[in-house]
Amino acid sequence: MKGKLTILGCGSAKPTKTTSPSAQLVELSDKAFLVDCGEGVVLTMQRLGTHTSRLYNIFISHLHGDHCFGLIGLLTTLGMLKRTQPMHIYAQPDLEKLLRPLLDYHAGDRQYEIIFHHINPRKHALIYEDRTVSVETIPLKHGVPTCGFLFKETHRVKKEDGSFEYETRKRYAYCSDTMYSEKIVPIIEGVDVLYHESTFLQSMAARSKEVKHSTAADAATIARKAGVGKLILGHYSARVEDHTLFLEEAKPIFENTALAEENDVIEL
Ligand SMILES: [Zn+2]
Ligand SMILES: [Zn+2]
Repeated sequence: MKGKLTILGCGSAKPTKTTSPSAQLVELSDKAFLVDCGEGVVLTMQRLGTHTSRLYNIFISHLHGDHCFGLIGLLTTLGMLKRTQPMHIYAQPDLEKLLRPLLDYHAGDRQYEIIFHHINPRKHALIYEDRTVSVETIPLKHGVPTCGFLFKETHRVKKEDGSFEYETRKRYAYCSDTMYSEKIVPIIEGVDVLYHESTFLQSMAARSKEVKHSTAADAATIARKAGVGKLILGHYSARVEDHTLFLEEAKPIFENTALAEENDVIEL
């Protein structure tokens, strides 16, 4: 079964004419997972014709607004669409504290349940598992507690003696936001596709360190050290209009690099 990654937003905090804040749809084993939910997600999904009825799980990396301001819009819209299936949100505990009063005020009459699963972004742990997909946290280094997510698609294989074993078919790692951190390398080693933030260019390295983000060269170095199959760059600063500059910087370090652009669909 083909996996799919749809880029709903690949800009950093300040929205631009060509980029919305972070959000992406990961589709594996016929299931859809929303990773981060920047402002405007519901509009982008509507434009792309995304069916939210298949969406049961949302993962939020951290509580900077560019990764979660779209939640209230999305969750209230689902209420208006008469959704009845529950929605699970995996995030650090403060998100529930902040969002519950807004949901009660704006979507108190919704017909579906919102279930928060509290995660610890500082710990590498398994946070979601069904028969074919699992998700683990990847602790990242950013200005506030942040984690990425490692998706694994598993498949049940029948052995000669009739018993079953599980083999991992695909692995996708989402790492945003973070400064350069080799600590993540053992967790993401050999993944098929790595999305790593690339907010700045090397010419802005001092600023990058100061605000705890990565340059394109940082992302490519991590991809090379982890021996991943493919690197996708994103979370671009509004100060860099020409995204090909990120690609030019990353490719000499890690050849199989691509740029994320709005509405891109990438095979996993
Ligand atoms: Zn961000
Ligand atoms: Zn951030």
